[in-house]
Amino acid sequence: MSQIHVALQVLRSRGYRVTEPRKRVLKVLTEVQRPVSPYEIQEILQRKGEYLNHVTIYRVLDLLCLLNLAHKVLMLGGFVKCTLEEEDGCHRFVVCRECGALREYADKELCEEENAIAEEFGFRTEQHFSEFSGVCSKCIALARF
Ligand SMILES: [Zn+2]
Ligand SMILES: [Zn+2]
Repeated sequence: MSQIHVALQVLRSRGYRVTEPRKRVLKVLTEVQRPVSPYEIQEILQRKGEYLNHVTIYRVLDLLCLLNLAHKVLMLGGFVKCTLEEEDGCHRFVVCRECGALREYADKELCEEENAIAEEFGFRTEQHFSEFSGVCSKCIALARF
């Protein structure tokens, strides 16, 4: 099954309609495989002769992020398609500071540890975000860091 097909199924199973804008944005994220801004998404669509306004693109991205189908990577300032499927734990990123390579992972135990910390402060956790940067193995091999 193609990645977009899986994502469309998640939309349906959560009670969301598969609309043309949702399909288009998901397709762009699947095709580019790198973080893109809403403006870039609009440009890519325009090159294909498709048009979506910014408000629509932002709304679609909000929904996709809510459903864990896409994520905003703060360090790279863009949105990416989720590469994990229904893995336990919140989705987190390691970013290569040289080439921008991304590795997404989920760690349920880490979430639980953070929940315990939050609880000590009297908080109930709803979401975890985590990004950290370094140099990826390819860049280490090339530049001998
Ligand atoms: Zn994810
Ligand atoms: Zn790298």
